[in-house]
Amino acid sequence: MKKYTHAWLALMAMKRIEKAKIPVRQQDDAKALISWFKNYRDFVLSGAWYPDSVFKDMSTSHIVKYKPDTSGTAGSFRVMPPTLQLYKYGLNSDMYGKPYTLEKRHNICDRCEAFTESLIDSFKILTMENDGSPIVPSNNHIAMRFFILSHYIADCHMPLHCDARSFYNKNEVHGFIEEQWDDQVRSSYLIDEDNERFFYDPEGYPLKQAEMTDLMKYVEEELVSREFVWSWGTGCNNTWDYMSGISQYSYLMSYRLVPADHVPDEISKNLYMASDAYKDHFLEYSKVILGDAVESIAKIWLHAWVRYRDWFRDTELAFYNAQQKQAEKNLKAATQTVDNYPFEKENQCGKVKKARDTVSTKQDDYDLAVSKGKNADKKAEALQKARTKLAEAEEKLAKLEMDYKEAQSSLESLKALLLAAQIQVKRKEAEIKKYADSNSGI
Ligand SMILES: [Zn+2]
Repeated sequence: MKKYTHAWLALMAMKRIEKAKIPVRQQDDAKALISWFKNYRDFVLSGAWYPDSVFKDMSTSHIVKYKPDTSGTAGSFRVMPPTLQLYKYGLNSDMYGKPYTLEKRHNICDRCEAFTESLIDSFKILTMENDGSPIVPSNNHIAMRFFILSHYIADCHMPLHCDARSFYNKNEVHGFIEEQWDDQVRSSYLIDEDNERFFYDPEGYPLKQAEMTDLMKYVEEELVSREFVWSWGTGCNNTWDYMSGISQYSYLMSYRLVPADHVPDEISKNLYMASDAYKDHFLEYSKVILGDAVESIAKIWLHAWVRYRDWFRDTELAFYNAQQKQAEKNLKAATQTVDNYPFEKENQCGKVKKARDTVSTKQDDYDLAVSKGKNADKKAEALQKARTKLAEAEEKLAKLEMDYKEAQSSLESLKALLLAAQIQVKRKEAEIKKYADSNSGI
C-alpha cells in the first residue's frame, strides 16, 4: 500500500476507536487512548510510512506468502471474529480448507506481535521512569511506533502480500491496485501538500472533499456502523494468532482479486484491467480489504493499550497496598512504644538506681583508699567505669521518655494516615473490579 493509504488507514482506525460502540469493559480505555493519540497524530504520515521509507524490510516483514499445495490433504484455517469481511469471503472461497504451503522466510505476523509487545513495554518504562530519566521513551516516540505497527497490519490485508504467485511483472498489478486506492484517498480528502499531511476537520480527522469516492464513503460509514467485536476469534489469543488468520484469508482473497484463470506470468496490468474480477468486483473487494484493515488496526491498538492500562491499574493498586502496609506497620510500632512505656520506664529506672548505688559504693572505696594514703588508681578506674554506666543508663531513660512522647503525639496522625491509605486501596479495588472480567485478556 502507498503512503497516503497507510496514513489514512491509521487515522480511520483512530476514528473507529472513537466512533464505534466499544464494549463497556473497554470504553473508558478507548476514550483515554483517543485523547492520548490526538496529541501525536501529526506523526501519522511519517510513522505509517517509516517501514517503506527507512526500514525497507519489504522482502521479509511486509509479507507472508502462501501457495496451494497439491500434495497436501487439508489446510487449516483459523476461526476469526464474525464481523471480519475477509473471513466471510474466505469461508465461501473454493480454496477454503484446501492445503497450502508457506514460504519460509517471511515474518509479518512476528513483526506485528513484536511491535505490539514493545508498545506495551514502552508505556511501562514511561510510567516507571522518573521525569528526565535518560532512558525514558517519549510519547511522540511511542505514537510513532503505533503508526509503524499500523503499516505492517495494513500490508497483511493487501492480498498480494500473502500470495506466492509471481505475476507477469512482479509489481505491475500490485502497484496498479495500490495506486487505485491511494488515488482515491488523495482525491477524497484535502491534503496539505506543503507539509505532507492531511488537513483536519474540527474533530481532528482527515478533512473530506465535497465529492468522495464510493470506497472512501463506505469505509467512513463502516467504521461507525460495524459492530466492534473485542475477541480475536476462537483459538486466537494474541496479535500473532490474529494476524496469522488475517494472512490466511488475505491469501484466499488474493485469488478473487486476481483470479487464477491465467498463468500468473501472463497477467499484465492490461489483462487484469480487462478481467471480470477487476471490472465487476474491484470496488467490492476493496471495501472488504480496506474496511478490515481499519478494523484490525483499531483492534490491535486497543488491545495493546488495554493491556497497558490493566497493568497500570494493577501497579497502582500494588503501590497503594504497599502504602497501607507501611502505615499499618508505623501505627503498630508507635502503639507498642506507648503500651510498653510504663514497664520499660520502671525497668530502666531500676537500672539507673542500681548504677547510682554502684557509683556511690565506688566513690566510698576510692575516698577510703585516698584517706589511707594507698595507691587509688584502680579504685579511680572502677569509679570512672561506674559513672560511665550511670550516664548510659540515664541517657537510655531519657531516650525512652522522648520516644514515648513522640509516639504518643504521633498516634492520631498515624491513624489518620492509615485510614487514608485504606480508603485509597478500597477506592482502587472498586475501580479495578469493573475491569476484572474474563474478556480482558489479549
Ligand atoms: Zn509495506
